[in-house]
Amino acid sequence: MLITHISDCLTGRLGDGERFSGAIRIEGGKITEMGALTPRPGEEVLDATGCVVIPGLVNTHHHLNQSLLKAVPKGMNLPLDPWLMHVPYTWWPHFDEATYRTAVRVGLVELALTGATTVAEHHYIYAESYDYNPSDVFFEEAGKLGLRAVLARGGMTRGRAFDDPAIPAAPCESLDTFLSETAKTAAKWADGKMRKVALAPTTPTFNVTPEELREIAGFGRENGMLLHAHLSENESYARFTMDKYGQRPVHWLAGQDWLGPDVWFAHLVDLDPSEVALLAQTGTGMAHCPNANARLGSGIAPADALHRLGGKVSMGVDGAAANEAADMGALLFSAFTLHRATKGAEAVRAEEVLHWASAGGARVLDMPEVGTLAPGMAADIAVLDLTAPRNFGLHDRALAPVITGGLVVRDLIVDGKVVLAAGLLPGIDLGELGQEAARATQSLVRRQRESALVPV
Ligand SMILES: [Zn+2]
Repeated sequence: MLITHISDCLTGRLGDGERFSGAIRIEGGKITEMGALTPRPGEEVLDATGCVVIPGLVNTHHHLNQSLLKAVPKGMNLPLDPWLMHVPYTWWPHFDEATYRTAVRVGLVELALTGATTVAEHHYIYAESYDYNPSDVFFEEAGKLGLRAVLARGGMTRGRAFDDPAIPAAPCESLDTFLSETAKTAAKWADGKMRKVALAPTTPTFNVTPEELREIAGFGRENGMLLHAHLSENESYARFTMDKYGQRPVHWLAGQDWLGPDVWFAHLVDLDPSEVALLAQTGTGMAHCPNANARLGSGIAPADALHRLGGKVSMGVDGAAANEAADMGALLFSAFTLHRATKGAEAVRAEEVLHWASAGGARVLDMPEVGTLAPGMAADIAVLDLTAPRNFGLHDRALAPVITGGLVVRDLIVDGKVVLAAGLLPGIDLGELGQEAARATQSLVRRQRESALVPV
């Protein structure tokens, strides 16, 4: 296939090669040539006239079950801790396979429609009451859409304690079960190319013991698996490790073997400068989730500071219960505006935000073949539609996906295959999916209401 008439393109790289115009040739799932190319006889041509071309975006932190937990009234105006209690930790028992599958599909469809070609899902509820395996459902649904999928297999050996007896205890597993189930999932699904599995205890400071943390890190390194977790989403993390261990979270985790190029953390909002420096020095990655952090009032992660130190910054939309969407365009716009609102117009360039959400994500997920447009790279490419009025009058159209607050994909290519063409995902009727989501949401609300009537 040849993508022709590309005039506005950000490649995901920074500095030389940041922009490109011309044509991109795709053969055998890879970009083989870029430049002034003409179609070969019989070659399929995708005309990108009037469009912006970017690398497929990489979402490095998500909780897809939350796609059916948007705008839960009780959680709308709460900060992180009570929000966790009243939204994710209240609603998880009410999912069955059908509602979970619908939630996963809703999130993945929105991600694909806004340019994501790689999705890292951090699922941390593995309950005995579930008669299905959430890991399998995630890989099955991502496979149907043709997206690259990374499962950060979460879980906990120690659940959060909530004061309210109406909130069910979070499901815990033994460390052996967590490790063996994660290994089993990797053996079943991981192929090193389209699908990966990482070890991802929910929050390393609260949900596992220090001994277990070190064992998980050792297991990951023995088996070539990445490590992921939430960290320092707000000040309560540092308060906890300072009180308990006398160190700030990043410094404490250095002692638990939990820093390095094979580790990435979601959020990292509350960091002191020495923690930012240590993350950069060790190559530990950040999944920057500005939408969720803004919605929950947690603050703005120092992604720009980590980037300036040569650290690894990627972007995550995070669960839709904390930002009401899985929209990569909204995510890019948030990063572009929030850093500049608080630190000045030079805090970050639009090209850097796009780099975080593409090349940065690929670095964090150790997928060196994706994230930038260059010969030899995997053909993961988004061709964006700029026909909406918000794009009229732009002097620099290539920046549209970051600066206009809306991103619409016309064509999406993953591993050389067209997974979305002319704005449509094959096999997905959005009207039907909307109705299915409404029915699933209603059944969750009914189950939650019924369970609240049962005396505890
Ligand atoms: Zn999260």
